Amino acid sequence: MNDKVDVLIIGSGASGAAVAWSLAETKMKILCLEQGDWMKQSDYPSNGRDWEARRYNDFDISPNKRGRDTDYPVNDDASPMKVANFNGVGGGTVLYTAHFPRLHPSDFRVRSLDGVADDWPIDYAMLEPFFAENDRMMGVAGLAGDPAYPAHELPMPPLPLGKTALRYAEGMNRLGWHWWPSDSAIATTEYDGRAACINLGHCTPGCAQGAKASTDITYWPHALRAGVELRTRCRVREITTNEHGMAAGVIYYDTEGTERFQPAEVVIVACNGVGTPRLLLNSASAQFPNGLANSSGLVGKNLMVHPWPQVFGYGEELLDGDHAPMLCLWSKEFYETDPKRDFVRGYTLQFGRGTGAVNEAITSAAAGRLPWGKDHHRAFRGLFRKRMICGVACDDLPEEHNRVTLDPMLKDSHGIPGAKIEYTISENTRRMMEHGIARGEQALRAAGATRIFTSMTALNSPGHLLGTARMGTDPARSVVNEWGRSHDVKNLFIVDGSIWVTGGGVNPTSTIQALALYVADSMKKRLATLFD
Ligand SMILES: Cc1cc2nc3c(=O)[nH]c(=O)nc-3n(C[C@H](O)[C@H](O)[C@H](O)COP(=O)(O)OP(=O)(O)OC[C@H]3O[C@@H](n4cnc5c(N)ncnc54)[C@H](O)[C@@H]3O)c2cc1C
Ligand code: SF4
Repeated sequence: MNDKVDVLIIGSGASGAAVAWSLAETKMKILCLEQGDWMKQSDYPSNGRDWEARRYNDFDISPNKRGRDTDYPVNDDASPMKVANFNGVGGGTVLYTAHFPRLHPSDFRVRSLDGVADDWPIDYAMLEPFFAENDRMMGVAGLAGDPAYPAHELPMPPLPLGKTALRYAEGMNRLGWHWWPSDSAIATTEYDGRAACINLGHCTPGCAQGAKASTDITYWPHALRAGVELRTRCRVREITTNEHGMAAGVIYYDTEGTERFQPAEVVIVACNGVGTPRLLLNSASAQFPNGLANSSGLVGKNLMVHPWPQVFGYGEELLDGDHAPMLCLWSKEFYETDPKRDFVRGYTLQFGRGTGAVNEAITSAAAGRLPWGKDHHRAFRGLFRKRMICGVACDDLPEEHNRVTLDPMLKDSHGIPGAKIEYTISENTRRMMEHGIARGEQALRAAGATRIFTSMTALNSPGHLLGTARMGTDPARSVVNEWGRSHDVKNLFIVDGSIWVTGGGVNPTSTIQALALYVADSMKKRLATLFD
């Protein structure tokens, strides 16, 4: 049996890294188990000319297509939104686009403001110091003064707008709509030992330059230096409990595939909105027959994944193509509820640069924009580096029938059941999507696009996995309390995106990490009672 640790963290992604670093100053014995590997920047696709091909291969955003032995299968047949993630040190931040908006203050109060879903038990102001701390640790670039948010400073200047974003900005000025350069977790100057972005734009399948803030190169080096231990290729099968109903530790498979027991005083789960309910449901026992921490029956329910239609436009002018990070500018014009509309809450319009040659060819051929035959090259020249993109990041309200369960058939490389997701788009969201697509079209036309392509079914997979172990003060209606502690198992905490109450209309990682730091801070304030 392994030596007992004070704190055991499962998962080393966005939230696991943040909580590990924050707790390190307590000098407790902290161990993190991660099922994936450390990443090597020299292995990233952008080092080779085949980088675009590898986006659809060993660096695919879908675990099912990537199929590494460190991935677990997710059956998403019963969902129009497919799952995207990454399993390795850094978790989803290895493959994310590093667009870094925060939730808005109103997102924490949707029941009070709009009479739907639930209010969070915490608010924006409580998270504010942790947003700032996380911006410092990740290294966020942006421009202070966005009127859509409470005032906040950013550690680095924003990414350059480039030709593409300038067109968007001019278009938005014509329409008189709000716009602002995006906050991005990308170093625009040398920062904390990391090199500055060189704007070559292969960000999503890993940044070999080290400018994009994935937690393997931001939080983890600091956490390791402070004494936290991180063991890779260690996949946790279940969390075990003792006769008092407290978490006793975990059973995991080590690098050699050997089954081991790791005892711990406190267990923190940071496996994301799909991995966390999968683990809790797989930890069912005679004492907890419906899965661990599941007396409410809500583990796995209320999955939110952010439906995200995209509007593409092509103008006549050569733009930046894929040179520089993808997302560059946002508009919050339609973010807050407007009683004149036929839906509540709203969305962010997110403007992106174009894409690489291979991706342009594949996606345009699939959409019927790029014919084969004698017109092929002429048509390609009319598309490549002329693409404009507007994503509609829709708020996603919780519904219990949207859920994660254990798949009865699929298993990972250790024989642990894979996850199954069932998800339908609500009527409120569908109306929001239609509204957003129409506004996206308007914005792209104002920016100079003449050929517009949209589709309600063009839903990509943003990899935002939220809500499946929600926080709240009522144990009958939530899984963890207002500081991430399980209502049922007092030494069990959850810090990843699964504890979200509502989804908001933004990319979630900034808020996921601020929340993880807030939970860690709450734990530090209660150290004396943590082990009771
Ligand atoms: C392609 C893509 C683009 C994205 N773009 C953006 C963006 O621009 N902005 C943004 O805000 N967000 C973006 N995201 C989402 C972002 O990556 C996630 O919100 C974030 O990483 C979630 O953090 P987390 O801590 O909840 O989980 P994760 O970061 O997913 O970490 C979970 C970790 O737990 C490990 N784990 C799971 N189960 C086990 C187990 N049983 N045993 C051991 N380890 C386990 C996993 O291997 C993983 O490393 C994107 C995601 C993807 C995939
Ligand atoms: S554009 Fe910048 S952040 Fe993106 S991969 Fe290149 S150096 Fe990294």
